[in-house]
Amino acid sequence: MPTYPPEPFRIKVTEPIRLIPPAEREAKLKEAGYNLFAVKAEDIFIDLLTDSGTGAMSQDQWAAVMRGDESYAGARSFHRLKAAVEDIFGFKYFVPTHQGRAAENILSACLVKPGQYVPSNMHFDTTDANIRARGGRPTNLIIDEAFDPANPHPFKGNMDIAKLKAFIEKTGVDKIPFGMVTVTNNAGGGQPVSMENLKAVADVYHSYKIPFFIDAARYAENCFFIKQREPGYESKSVKEIAREMFSLADGMTMSAKKDAIVNIGGLLCMNDDKLFENVKNELILREGFPTYGGLAGRDLDAIAVGLYEGLDESYLEYRLAQTAYLSARINEAGIPTIQPAGGHAVYLDARAVLPHIPQSEFPGQALAVELYREGAIRGVEIGSVMFAYPDPDSGKMIYPKLELLRLAIPRRTYTRSHMDYVADALAKIKSRASSIRGFKFTYAPELLRHFTARFEPL
Ligand SMILES: *Cc1c(COP(=O)(O)O)cnc(C)c1O
Repeated sequence: MPTYPPEPFRIKVTEPIRLIPPAEREAKLKEAGYNLFAVKAEDIFIDLLTDSGTGAMSQDQWAAVMRGDESYAGARSFHRLKAAVEDIFGFKYFVPTHQGRAAENILSACLVKPGQYVPSNMHFDTTDANIRARGGRPTNLIIDEAFDPANPHPFKGNMDIAKLKAFIEKTGVDKIPFGMVTVTNNAGGGQPVSMENLKAVADVYHSYKIPFFIDAARYAENCFFIKQREPGYESKSVKEIAREMFSLADGMTMSAKKDAIVNIGGLLCMNDDKLFENVKNELILREGFPTYGGLAGRDLDAIAVGLYEGLDESYLEYRLAQTAYLSARINEAGIPTIQPAGGHAVYLDARAVLPHIPQSEFPGQALAVELYREGAIRGVEIGSVMFAYPDPDSGKMIYPKLELLRLAIPRRTYTRSHMDYVADALAKIKSRASSIRGFKFTYAPELLRHFTARFEPL
């Protein structure tokens, strides 16, 4: 039996959840067009759709909310956040944004021109879409080990340095406005990037004078993995590791809804003076004045406190062990997951569970629907629904290499018995897997289609 650490907190406020009967679940599925994004939260028992903005805030964060200064310009809340951001990340400039994708939108608006390329280990869906929306081409250059779900490589989020160099040589520096790395790699299993790799990536970008931006949504989880797995970092604090990580980059985007443990918010940081001028102008147009950036003062204060709580090492130890526990229990049920377990989520190999469903019939989606049917549990497909795109040159459909069902774990929200309930439901699905069928679209928009698509069972 895998170990489960005692939670380093106790529960002071509760939120009721309700398990609706199987016949009702079937009706809800049909009504939602078999898209779990369209199911009402009240009809879900365990919601593992995302760890984004779904965590439980602490007593200190709620206290900070009450101190929120709602002044339009120069609020005390902004200056408290500024102090935390400077202390942890160390960039010269920052602006708050209403969430991570707003930071990505502004960065893309300022830097990406049609036909340009932005390399990364692997872009997340909103980053990918924001670059495409400006006519750019997001390019994923992760190591090959990332595509082998069973490979136990400790840093499967690493960029392939040889691929990166070859890509820059082939594409030309003038067609690459900036380069990125996502820590941890959400789209590929929540896998961390090593400090050694980050240094090598930074060296390559900088040798070509390409600005380097980190997508820092889960930087704290990534830093704790570095502490646990990378020689030389055992006795460094997570905060020291973070400082070293960000000292390698020219800026970052961050969804504060992840490792800052808040319900809404984002950050965009940079060192370049000219870029900062342009970012502020875009921000004022789309988000708000640069000292609030689309957030309330109370949100800024909650982020300022949450950034430090996200770095707390007893919290991070529990957090990563909870994820590893769920992963191990699912493996015991005979279902392969991406190895090793990621930081924030368990990624089930849907093709291994449903080998009879081809990618064009969405095996990840089929498994997601089945998990709702079985236990009113909501996960999210990360496969062909989310990532199959027609090639801009040939028009041919390009399918992603992995078909995954992601079970993301909200921070400080569910207990061990909730994790056991999920693993038990999956064991039941495994025993009837051969009778599960695929899906086809009845509606799909062009970008970010997983949010609003509708399906019909085949
Ligand atoms: C969540 C996320 C984003 C986007 O952030 P939002 O706050 O949801 O807009 C970007 N990158 C990664 C890696 C993420 O996990």
